[in-house]
Amino acid sequence: MIRYRCDKCGKDLGPGSDHFVVRIEAFAAASPLEITAEDVEKDHQAEIRQLVEQLSHTPLDEVEDQVFRAFRFDLCGPCHREYLRNPLPPA
Ligand SMILES: [Zn+2]
Repeated sequence: MIRYRCDKCGKDLGPGSDHFVVRIEAFAAASPLEITAEDVEKDHQAEIRQLVEQLSHTPLDEVEDQVFRAFRFDLCGPCHREYLRNPLPPA
């Protein structure tokens, strides 16, 4: 049997208790694509080689974080209410 605990306060989320799931996804937003004559004439192979070279020196975790990251949190009732009041606290 899977036992859940609140990821914020540690309370046991056993049967009969309030249990909420918060899922967060973070990914790079796509911007509108504008293709210019300069883009068409550019040496794309050199650009791809440079990108591959840069990626070969970047830790895999960092590369993945730049593309997509997902989180899942289990929360008890009070922590869920607190989260909804302020889901993105100021830095
Ligand atoms: Zn809690």
